[in-house]
Amino acid sequence: MNPSEPKREISGNVLLLLTCLLLVGGGNVRFVAQVVHAFPPGAGTLLPLLSLAVAFLAFNLVLFGGLAFGRMTKPVLIAALLTASVTAYFMDSFGTVIGEDMLRNAAQTDAGEAFDLVTFKLLAYFVLLGVLPSVLVWRAPLAWRGWRRELIGRAKLLAVCLLAIALMVMAFGGFYASFIRAHKALRSYANPAYPLLTALKLAGRANEATASMKPAVVAPDAHISKDDRHRELIVLVVGETARADRFSINGYARDTTPRLREAGAISLPDFRSCGTSTAVSVPCMFSPRGMARFDPKRAAGEENLLDVLQHAGVNVLWLDNNSDSKGVALRVPYRDYKSPANNTVCDTECRDEGMLEPLQDYIDSHPAGDIVVVLHQMGNHGPAYYKRYPPAFEKFQPACKSKDLGACSREEIGNAYDNAILYTDHFLGQAIALLKRNDAKFETALFYLSDHGESLGEGGLYLHGLPRPLAPESQLHVPAILWFGSNFNELDQAALMRKRGQRFTHDHLFHTVLGFLEIRTSAYKPELDILDGCRKEE
Ligand SMILES: [Zn+2]
Repeated sequence: MNPSEPKREISGNVLLLLTCLLLVGGGNVRFVAQVVHAFPPGAGTLLPLLSLAVAFLAFNLVLFGGLAFGRMTKPVLIAALLTASVTAYFMDSFGTVIGEDMLRNAAQTDAGEAFDLVTFKLLAYFVLLGVLPSVLVWRAPLAWRGWRRELIGRAKLLAVCLLAIALMVMAFGGFYASFIRAHKALRSYANPAYPLLTALKLAGRANEATASMKPAVVAPDAHISKDDRHRELIVLVVGETARADRFSINGYARDTTPRLREAGAISLPDFRSCGTSTAVSVPCMFSPRGMARFDPKRAAGEENLLDVLQHAGVNVLWLDNNSDSKGVALRVPYRDYKSPANNTVCDTECRDEGMLEPLQDYIDSHPAGDIVVVLHQMGNHGPAYYKRYPPAFEKFQPACKSKDLGACSREEIGNAYDNAILYTDHFLGQAIALLKRNDAKFETALFYLSDHGESLGEGGLYLHGLPRPLAPESQLHVPAILWFGSNFNELDQAALMRKRGQRFTHDHLFHTVLGFLEIRTSAYKPELDILDGCRKEE
C-alpha cells in the first residue's frame, strides 16, 4: 500500500462544470437554433451571441451550483440530466417548449396517452443524453475536502459566474434588453432551466388558492349623492409605456400631441406612476390602498374602484387591447380587443381605435345611470414601437424597424417611439370627439393616465420594470391628461389651472373618479381628489 499515491477524485465544482457543459451543449440545440434565428450572426451580433453563450453557461452553473452541493450533488445533477434529455427530445422533434401548459397537461395525462408519446427516438434521447451521463455522474469518485473548503470553493465559483453575467449584460445592454423582452419566448427554450423553474412556479402557485376566493368588500356604503341630477360619462384610458416628456402638451419640442392641444385638454405635468410595470401599476391605480400600502397579492384579494362604482349603480365596461386587466376587471363586463373577432380596426395588429367603435351603441343601450368605460391601450408597448402605429403616423423618420433595439440608433428608437405617441394622441382625439357627441346628455370627461414610463437608452437603460427605488425618472414620470365636456359647468377652470402644477400620483385616480361621479362613501379622501377645490359651488 502506498499512502502517498493520490486518489483520483473529482471535485464537486468540476463535476458541476462538466455536467453544465453537457447540458448547455447537448440539450440546447433548439435553443441555439432559435437564438441564431432571432439574431442572425453578423458583424453586430457575433460578440453579443458569444457573450450569451458564456452568460448561459454561467446562469446554469449558478442555478444548479446553488443546489448540487455535498450529498445533493449527484441527485441534483442527475435530475437535471434526465429532465434535459426528455425536454430536448420534445423541443427538437416538435418545436414545443415544456412550459406551464405542457406541464399542466402532463400532470393530467393518463398512462395510455403518455405511452403514445414513447418512441424509439425518445428512448435514444433519454439514454444518450440522460441515462449514460447520469451513470457517469453517479459513479464519479467525488472529493470532499470538508465543509469550510467546499463552501468557500463553491462560493467563489458562483461569484465568478454572477460577475460574468453582470459584465456581459453591462457590455451588451441593448442586446440583452431585446433578448429578454422582445424575444420573451426564446427563454422558454432554455433547457432544463425553463421546465424546472416553471415546475417550481406551478408548485408554488398550488399553495395560493386565494384567487378563487371572494374578494374583501371595499366601500359597501358607496352611493350617488341625491343632489346629483346629471348623468356622468367618463372614458378612462389606461395608457401603456408613455413618457410625460414625449408629449408636446408638456413642452416636448416635437409636435407629438396636436389633437390634445386642439381639444383644449389639460395636462398634469408632474404625475408619477405607482410601479414601473403593467402588472404592478394597473392594479395599483384602481386599488384604494395607494402605492405606499400596495401589495399585488393583497390587492388581488380585495375589491377595487370598479367594484365600488358598481356598488353605487354605475354602468362599468372594460375594453382591453393590452394583455388583460391584471385582475382589475374580473367582476365587470370585459371585452378583448386584441383579436379581429371584436376589433374592427386591425391591420398588422389590432389598433386601440377599434375600442371606440362599439361605444356609441353601448352608451345608447344604457339609458339610465352613470357610465364609466375603461380603455386599456396597447399604446407604446415596446420594444417593437414601430408596430404600434399605422403607416400614416410615421411622421418622425427614420424609425427603428426592429425589435432588436441593439440594431438601431437611439435616434431611430426615439423616432419610432414618438410616432407611437402621435398615434395615441390621435386615439385620444377620437375618444374626445365621441364624448363631444354625447355632451348634451352627459357631463363628460376623459381621463388618460399611462401605467408607467420607459427608458429609451438613457444611461444605457431600455424598456421598463426596474424596482421603484432604482427606477429612473423616465420609467415613473407619466403623462396624465384631463378633458371635460361643456356640460360639466361646475368646473372652476382657473382653480384647476392653479392646481395642475402640483405633484400627483396614481393614488389620485380612485378618489378623483369618485369625486367626479359624486359618489358618497367613507372611503373617499378629498385630499386625493384632483378636482377637489376646483368646483364653482364650493
Ligand atoms: Zn405597461
